Amino acid sequence: MSHPPEPSPRIPGLRFLHAPGPTHLPDAVLAAMHRQSMDLGDPRVQDCIAACDGGLRRLLATRAELFFYAANGHGAWEAAIVNLLAPDAAALVPGTGHFSDSWARQCEALGRAALRTPWDEGRPIAPQPVEDALRADLQRPGGPRIAAVFVVHTDTASGVTSDLAAQRAAIDAAGHPALLVVDAVASLATVPLAMDDARIDVVVGASQKGLMLPPGLGFVAVGEAALALAARNPTPRFYWDWTQRRARESYRRFCGTPPLQLMYGLQAALGLLFDEGLDEVAARHRVLAGAVHAAVAAWSRAGALDFFCCEPAARSVGVTAVRTAPGIDPDAIRHAARERFQVAIAGGLGPLAGRVFRIGHLGDLSAPMVLGALGGVQAALQSLGVPCGRDGVAAAVDFIASAASGTSAGPR
Ligand SMILES: *Cc1c(COP(=O)(O)O)cnc(C)c1O
Repeated sequence: MSHPPEPSPRIPGLRFLHAPGPTHLPDAVLAAMHRQSMDLGDPRVQDCIAACDGGLRRLLATRAELFFYAANGHGAWEAAIVNLLAPDAAALVPGTGHFSDSWARQCEALGRAALRTPWDEGRPIAPQPVEDALRADLQRPGGPRIAAVFVVHTDTASGVTSDLAAQRAAIDAAGHPALLVVDAVASLATVPLAMDDARIDVVVGASQKGLMLPPGLGFVAVGEAALALAARNPTPRFYWDWTQRRARESYRRFCGTPPLQLMYGLQAALGLLFDEGLDEVAARHRVLAGAVHAAVAAWSRAGALDFFCCEPAARSVGVTAVRTAPGIDPDAIRHAARERFQVAIAGGLGPLAGRVFRIGHLGDLSAPMVLGALGGVQAALQSLGVPCGRDGVAAAVDFIASAASGTSAGPR
């Protein structure tokens, strides 16, 4: 399919960013970042770092220790791998799709074994195969080798959120000492995540999704058991090493110069989240996700589109992947939405390339932003002749209106 010509550089009005990361930046974050660098000995630098540290712990309801990296999410993944996995240790990576497979491949590239449980397309992690793999590991002739279970909470490629309590229960049921390590890159600040209550040993995060920051800041929250395991782990490492980063001086804590502007931005973003209230942030994500789901359900009745996630309860509140029928190119829909209607959505990743498009609805978003994005996507579908009916946006408006009036809100 040939694409229409690029529009001229001047676009009247706003461009809507509805990828599931990087996400829209709040003005308060942009303003906080538009500041000079500071001398690293300035106490204001320490204050900012302390505020980020305390704020992330509050967000995660944890007493765990935080380590920051001038890196994206892949950097934080690598930190978990090299700190937790000794050269002969393995990670168990339950299948969630593109992101679990990418993390497993990163383990393998670093010389570690990654054991995968099967990925059931469109469904959350099944806990039984996790428990079975851990039980089998305990019976292994050479002794157990799984040091950690690496769980992707929301797989951003499939729009599926898995139940973390079920993963914790599977590890407990097997009686295996493996640590529970959670990739919350896409779920953080969209759903509540109480790390200590959920007995999660490590949370891996990054800046550019629910946290409403530019890309470039990765972090890990590390509990006691994980710190102890890392201290015993002989794997050679330097930049990622938790033990040497457990220092007070910012120069050591960051293994060099902290990314100051990202830290200013993080402090501001955390302030926005706490000012709104974490329960309110979660509720807003639920309502906006409900609106997107109402539109997708209405579009799907024409037979050309459908939810990729087939279990409604497992649909992410931050990103929705929409499957297209054979012969309908999701990338053409994406291109039309962006170039004709100024709405940027995402395409399919890995095994879903050419099979889905994805609407991001996380971070600094209001109802009219989501309704505008849905309007742009529906216009793209209609302009391409993709059967989608005409009720999608109306269903989203209904959902949002009934949620606001407190009546039972649900897709028509
Ligand atoms: C985006 C994402 C990552 C990778 O983050 P990068 O910053 O792109 O390296 C990892 N896990 C999940 C679930 C993600 O959504």
